[in-house]
Amino acid sequence: MNTGDEPDDNVGQNAAAIPGGPPKIFMGLTYVQGISPKLKALLSKDVMNVSVVFKYANKISRLHTRLKAADPIQLQSGVVYRVNCKDCPTCYVGHTISYLKVRMARHSRDCRDEHEEGTMLSQHAIEMGHEFDFENVKIEDREQKRGRREFKEKLHIMLNENSCNKRTDVNGISSVYAGILADIKVART
Ligand SMILES: [Zn+2]
Repeated sequence: MNTGDEPDDNVGQNAAAIPGGPPKIFMGLTYVQGISPKLKALLSKDVMNVSVVFKYANKISRLHTRLKAADPIQLQSGVVYRVNCKDCPTCYVGHTISYLKVRMARHSRDCRDEHEEGTMLSQHAIEMGHEFDFENVKIEDREQKRGRREFKEKLHIMLNENSCNKRTDVNGISSVYAGILADIKVART
């Protein structure tokens, strides 16, 4: 079973590393027309060791997505997820390599045990006396590789204005992306 403690296999390796410089990081993002080229330009300019590689739907990934999607949500792993609060518009965005049901059970336990150190989710639940809707957790994105999954989690925290995640969770994503993310929000609605 997955424990969530897998070593960080860190996004694509450093085939094109600058000698002596930081390893080159390749970031696979799903291509969104009109938005992706702007995002790529900004990422490449701002973060010297990041190369953005766009993924286009192809037969294999479509097949993979279809198979994954056929699994019950609670048995999916390697995902960025969103859990909504049942008592207010707040949501929590997280990522896990474990089965979602295992991650949800841990969140639920943190709330029951008043384990405020747990996450912003348990902190919200305990401070406000609210309950989260673990049964209806939503999948926001899929990614097996930890580094990429964390990056996608940050993007989804920024896309969900009602998330109770600490804003420090999005450190590493420059505020210059705010405009682009706003465009993405418009495109999604
Ligand atoms: Zn709430």
